[in-house]
Amino acid sequence: MTFEELRELDRQYVIQSYGRGPIAIHHGQGAVLYGLDGREYIDFASGIGVLSVGTADPKWVEAVTEQAGRLGHISNLYYSEPYVKLAKALCTRSGMAAAFFGNSGAEANEGLIKLARKWSWEKYGEGRGTIITLNRSFHGRTITTLAATGQDVFHKYFFPFTEGFRRADPDLDSVKQAAGHDVCAVLVELVQGEGGVLPLDPDFVHGLVQLCQDRDWLFLVDEVQTGIGRTGSLFCFQQYGVQPDAVSFAKGIAGGLPMGGILVNERCRKVFGPGDHASTFGGNPVSAAAACAVLDILDEEAIGRVKEKGRYLREAIEAMDLPCLGGTRGMGLMIGVEVKDGASNKELCARLNQAGLLSLTAGAGLRFLPPLTISKEEMDKGLAILKNTLF
Ligand SMILES: *Cc1c(COP(=O)(O)O)cnc(C)c1O
Repeated sequence: MTFEELRELDRQYVIQSYGRGPIAIHHGQGAVLYGLDGREYIDFASGIGVLSVGTADPKWVEAVTEQAGRLGHISNLYYSEPYVKLAKALCTRSGMAAAFFGNSGAEANEGLIKLARKWSWEKYGEGRGTIITLNRSFHGRTITTLAATGQDVFHKYFFPFTEGFRRADPDLDSVKQAAGHDVCAVLVELVQGEGGVLPLDPDFVHGLVQLCQDRDWLFLVDEVQTGIGRTGSLFCFQQYGVQPDAVSFAKGIAGGLPMGGILVNERCRKVFGPGDHASTFGGNPVSAAAACAVLDILDEEAIGRVKEKGRYLREAIEAMDLPCLGGTRGMGLMIGVEVKDGASNKELCARLNQAGLLSLTAGAGLRFLPPLTISKEEMDKGLAILKNTLF
């Protein structure tokens, strides 16, 4: 199929809900991808932070094909070996107590929201179901996670949205103003991803955890984007030195297969009993086997290198001193680059994609989320494209 044929079929038969760039990727290896026409692309996007171990990692391919050839699905009516292995690996490495698996980030966050509300209902009864979220946050595309998302652009058309969310700025006074007897939890991204790669101030986060303790609110962390090594630790909360009551994850967990989930601490492990929460595909054996392979590949050493790689990219980008780009920010391999006044981040991103560097936008800036296993050679190739395109 040629690219033109493909695009025509998409136009005819696909709901046009995505503003796609004129690129179709056919295959790849690591952080190097090839288009239908054989053209090379360097992957600084990871399919939006999903390809944590790059494309077609041999260990990942082996785990997926082995599991697919043995048992592709069984449902949660029965026990499943990949499910429990993955749950153990995640709990052991995060200090959390127990896991639940679904299929996406939004579904994982729905789990956090249901968890907080049921926990509070059992302890305090009705009328304490409000969750405080932050301005510029992003929590997903379902009606409820849109309601939780702290950006007005998402709050249109789909009324009525789910009740029970209140927004605050990332400072303690603002959160205290949003407080009330109806609140049961706060939900935050430690580095706001879609909002523009905005790390929360550690002092604010520590103050927030204290406030949660004082008011008996659950501290919920959305690590759908920051989790699974992206920021230089398995979960970002580990670098902030805080322990959430419950955390969601998704994007990078299964290295490209659909999976999301939540981890809860000891006090929340019994909130959901049989019948309270479920997901038909959740913890699917192939996705779970893929996720176990991802965690094997992303051992402490591999995750340790994420910070160095992030520093290397950020220093190189800043040293280029490109006219349309400003400073960089972020953690590990979650990198935001400021776009200077007058330039459009969407336009710059499209130019980079066209030039062979798959890139993303976030807020008003550019965002780079390369595979965590990216090599120095691949990073250098990407940096060269950046320099030659945005000079
Ligand atoms: C991507 C993202 C989501 C939504 O995940 P989906 O898998 O698209 O549902 C939720 N929260 C954060 C922080 C994200 O980055």
